[in-house]
Amino acid sequence: MTVQKPIETPLNIKAIRGEFPILQRQINSRPLVYLDSAASAQKPEFVIESVAGCYRASYANVHRGLHTLANETTEAFEAAREDVRRFLNAKSTDEIVFTRGSTEAINLVAHSFCRTLEPGDEIVISRMEHHSNIVPWMLEAEARELTVKWADVTETGELDYEQLGGLIGERTRLIALAHMSNVLGTVNDIARIRAIPGAGDIPLLLDGSQSAVHLPVDVQALDCDFFVFTGHKLYGPSGAGALYAKGDWLDRLPPYMGGGEMIADVFEDRVTFADVPHKFEAGTPAIADAIGLGAAIRWLERHDRVAIMEHERALMDRAMTGLSEIDGLKVIGTAQDKGAIISFHMDDAHPHDLAQILDKYGVAVRAGHHCAQPLMRRMGVSATARASFAVYNTIEEADAFVDALKKAREFLI
Ligand SMILES: *Cc1c(COP(=O)(O)O)cnc(C)c1O
Repeated sequence: MTVQKPIETPLNIKAIRGEFPILQRQINSRPLVYLDSAASAQKPEFVIESVAGCYRASYANVHRGLHTLANETTEAFEAAREDVRRFLNAKSTDEIVFTRGSTEAINLVAHSFCRTLEPGDEIVISRMEHHSNIVPWMLEAEARELTVKWADVTETGELDYEQLGGLIGERTRLIALAHMSNVLGTVNDIARIRAIPGAGDIPLLLDGSQSAVHLPVDVQALDCDFFVFTGHKLYGPSGAGALYAKGDWLDRLPPYMGGGEMIADVFEDRVTFADVPHKFEAGTPAIADAIGLGAAIRWLERHDRVAIMEHERALMDRAMTGLSEIDGLKVIGTAQDKGAIISFHMDDAHPHDLAQILDKYGVAVRAGHHCAQPLMRRMGVSATARASFAVYNTIEEADAFVDALKKAREFLI
């Protein structure tokens, strides 16, 4: 029996948990232990109410409205854009485009940016990317005869910065990297990448799907050109995310999708486009979800982001200590100062079986390739089980996870 030492945190975790209705659920007659937030996080009442409240009390299509509801909804939608700007510390809301999530944001940049390139130009990505920061570049490479170059990952799951440096050359046009890995938890050292000779001036896209949740993010300090994140991992609704594009990038890039809202004038022989960021928001956006994303940001801002990061890391450390006592259990990804994600496998047990047994104990983890097949191959596995921690998790849950794994081991091995 381990002595329960409370984690010291200025956060009132019990009160925070109380704001997430779903965490009251029982799963298989046990309290839910939700360790799958890296796939999608649960939502606090504040966010749920913001989305429901939009539909209930103040809903119409945005922009061009001449009636009160249209104006109210437009104001709320644009206020959410300001929430995103503040959250990322972008200079202007003109740098913020609402998208359906990270995937759409990366596709937008890949499509629009690559249209400005020449055959033989090169894009650098890494083996730790999520498929949504791989496939859009491969599609463009195929269509425009570009080359995708792959930065390597070390045994411990860190970027191989030296090898990455060797990839940078005359024809490198863009570097696109995860800020934090959704599989390994590794947080990439962006300043170190910027300091690589020749890399400082190359446009840099950061996939912030995980980092935006787990770390305080400042796009100006990161000095990135593009930053993407997705609302549903940030305690917000699914269907809304954002792209940050520094300075005049959005003015310089051609549009992605065409349709309503993104135009100034349409003639039979030509089209002129709306001002940024609207030039990149064709069609009716996910209005209530974007408003909900703004609410999620405001909810998160009530808490100390550094304290959240430390709380999550303390939970991860606690679980890692427990896991180290389990025979045959191997953690994939042990980078220094990583974020609160643990990928693992246990002897020959299939990760899917592990996840199913854990579910019997109410513990929700994910198993599979986590949309990162090149990384799985690099780490020499076909799949892992993954536990990810969020602000609402507790030390008791970290222990329940380890206990359930011990029972799974008895059962499987
Ligand atoms: C989840 C995730 C994505 C994709 O986000 P969507 O919401 O599915 O668009 C991309 N990259 C990373 C690192 C992720 O964790």
